[in-house]
Amino acid sequence: MKISTQEIQLKTKGNCDIKDITSEISAAVMKSGIKEGQCTVFSVGSTAGITTIEYEPGLLKDIPKLLDKLIPPAVRYHHDDTWGDGNGHAHLRSALFKTSLSIPVFKGELTLGTWQQVVLLDFDNKSRSRRVIVQIIGE
Ligand code: ZN
Repeated sequence: MKISTQEIQLKTKGNCDIKDITSEISAAVMKSGIKEGQCTVFSVGSTAGITTIEYEPGLLKDIPKLLDKLIPPAVRYHHDDTWGDGNGHAHLRSALFKTSLSIPVFKGELTLGTWQQVVLLDFDNKSRSRRVIVQIIGE
């Protein structure tokens, strides 16, 4: 059993900025030399999310539109009373999406579909520097 832990750093614009990080994660899997196992992708912090989507211009508009309906930024949340940082919606969106994802690794590659990309969604209300941990466990 082998474990490889790597880190991806990226800058985002916040406000539901969606970044495709598939190629960085694939590179981490390749670098690990692990052929079969599990790849965990984890975003550090409580105002971002990790998921998979088809990374195309339509969905990059549909996801923010859906979230604006479900968890609107203009509503006052109790979290905003606690800190006054105005990003209650970002924490709620992050909790809903979760901050990590597990992808099976087989034959040295991520078992993603052709139209399935791994994305980081930054829900915070300002630009951020993000750390994403990629940990691959296997043989
Ligand atoms: Zn906050």
